[in-house]
Amino acid sequence: MTKTVGVVMTERIVAGLIEDHRISGALQHFPDKTDEEFERDDALMELPADSLWEMICDHIAALAPQGSGVTAVGVAMPGMIRGGVVEDSPNLPQLKGARVEDAIRSGLAARKLEYPICVLNDADAVAAGLAATHGHLDRLVRVWTIGNGIGFGRFPYTEGPWEGGHMVVTLDKKENYCGCGGKGHLEGIMGHRAMRLRFLDLEPDEIFAHAKKGDRRCADFVDLWHRALAAATASQIHLEGPGRFYYTGRHIGRLDLGRLKECLYQMVKMSPLQSYSVEVLPEDPAMAVIGAGAAASSR
Ligand SMILES: [Zn+2]
Repeated sequence: MTKTVGVVMTERIVAGLIEDHRISGALQHFPDKTDEEFERDDALMELPADSLWEMICDHIAALAPQGSGVTAVGVAMPGMIRGGVVEDSPNLPQLKGARVEDAIRSGLAARKLEYPICVLNDADAVAAGLAATHGHLDRLVRVWTIGNGIGFGRFPYTEGPWEGGHMVVTLDKKENYCGCGGKGHLEGIMGHRAMRLRFLDLEPDEIFAHAKKGDRRCADFVDLWHRALAAATASQIHLEGPGRFYYTGRHIGRLDLGRLKECLYQMVKMSPLQSYSVEVLPEDPAMAVIGAGAAASSR
């Protein structure tokens, strides 16, 4: 039996003990639902990196005390991550350059704990979790995570930035809402911060609600939102081939799968590339936690 700990930090920190690709016991959340101070979606953005590492180490120590039999710890977070270092992370800017692996290792050492640590991208953790729990360990799994930011995850892990959220999906020069500063990016259309900048008078949830009621400006935007996601998926299909794509994340409820399929149909016309399939998965924080643990035990 393999025992690992998975920690995922996106809008919240979620941690769990994993035994053979299953969560054992309850998932730990920070902030938890009763924490009004951290009700807002961007609560973690305001915490300095050192406090985040301390919190993560506390969770790991609680789940994997000495003698627990845990063999590895996986820590997943948004951004471009290489060799245990966050090279960039537009949605958690305080993490840029952070040496996460070293920070967690020394935080655990201070708690008299020592585990191999694997730091990975949060969307890659979702892909690894899907592969582990859906029995796809031999197949290519690609997943888009629709949260505050837009993540692209891939299993098996392959070295590279894989910054799917920053794919260019429009040449319109006015499209400059992406947090990274790049023009025409997917996240500059679909990201939480980008939507707030575009609609200064509406929150993202209101934009989607107004679109349903027939508001023209909002409906046009929701159309653009779907076309952008389809464009990024179509580009992926043209580069890496067809296969199965999953869509999940905190804001997955905004996705209309039928509409996405229509857009894809218009965008992918070469017959060898048309055998793709798309599937929505309700958001399940456990998936990324399991994936973080699975990645830690296999890398
Ligand atoms: Zn960008």
